[in-house]
Amino acid sequence: MSRLWFGVVTLFPEMVTEAANFGVFRRAQEGGAVQVEAFNPRDDATDRHRTVDDKPYGGGPGMVMMAEPLLAAIGRARQAAAAWGDDAAPVLLMSPQGPVFDQRRAQAMADRSGGFILVCGRYEGVDQRVIELAVDGELSVGDFVVSGGELPALVVMDAISRLIEGTIGNPDSLLSESHLDGLLEYPQYTRPEFVEGLGVPSELLSGDHKRVADFRRKAALGRTLDRRPELLLEGEVLADQSDRRLLKDLLVERTTDG
Ligand code: SAH
Repeated sequence: MSRLWFGVVTLFPEMVTEAANFGVFRRAQEGGAVQVEAFNPRDDATDRHRTVDDKPYGGGPGMVMMAEPLLAAIGRARQAAAAWGDDAAPVLLMSPQGPVFDQRRAQAMADRSGGFILVCGRYEGVDQRVIELAVDGELSVGDFVVSGGELPALVVMDAISRLIEGTIGNPDSLLSESHLDGLLEYPQYTRPEFVEGLGVPSELLSGDHKRVADFRRKAALGRTLDRRPELLLEGEVLADQSDRRLLKDLLVERTTDG
């Protein structure tokens, strides 16, 4: 069974451990597949006030996370990772300047299993020398800036954990999911059959597995075409004969409808 260990370096450990305590992510930890441990650089601060930030050299607004407490906390996380069983856990800095985390990266990290050390910045960010001395890579959750790395780290850990065998009740539910095969997922319906007069597509009520599967695949193709057409070019979809046929049916339907 694959197992994951996350060491999160953060000035707000409760923010991470508390938020990790719900739903699939919680069950993954209870089942032993995933472990989350927090390391607070404030515990490594050496002065009386436990200072972890200071003004930027050269002036300018805000504060910068000091190198030394952060390096010490990363060191503790490394030791804990080694004690858990991975002495080569990569140290990843959460940063809006990193490559954008996506489903492919989540899958690659889940496949590696083992330990990951996620470093959460605060304020204006971290002293560049931390990056040079102790960081193996950076990860962004999108082209926007939030005030700390904790929410991004939670996003990354959640996305990876749910891919680990045994964390999701029905692993089949992962197969059709958005982005896994380059398509957005088809629309979902559950009981009752009518909601304020709106019914359920008849194919889904037909009991005919082939009709259901075709309907869903076509709906996934249609959604992707409408919302994220570039995904169709990136993935394998256009190379697949039955997908090409469904896409053609869809285009024909739409042309005759319109
Ligand atoms: N001044 C920095 C941003 C600081 S935001 C810059 O312009 O690059 C404070 C911290 O929040 C960052 O150090 C990082 O750890 C985290 N953060 C902010 N936006 C993020 C994003 N999109 N992805 C991952 N981490 C992010």
